Amino acid sequence: MKPFVGAVLSASLTKLPDVLEPAIHPNHRQFFHSVAFAGLLGLVAHKIYRWEPKNKDDETVRFVLLVGAAAYAIHLLLDASTPKCLPLFGTF
Ligand SMILES: [Zn+2]
Repeated sequence: MKPFVGAVLSASLTKLPDVLEPAIHPNHRQFFHSVAFAGLLGLVAHKIYRWEPKNKDDETVRFVLLVGAAAYAIHLLLDASTPKCLPLFGTF
């Protein structure tokens, strides 16, 4: 069951950056598509990875957050491999 849930979660959460910053123009990649945000995401994901849940509910939260962070990071990696790449910070 867990691999199936993980696959569904990751397939849907991979789109999150484009939900936050829809691809409606060529310069849509801003802060939530930036190298800076990828770094923050890595730090937070590391903290979550090191967290030791005390009960089943916390384990579920940890699993969802780690899958979400990985799915988000995959989106950023794929965007970074395009000619447009990722901005360092984006504009606000
Ligand atoms: Zn994107």
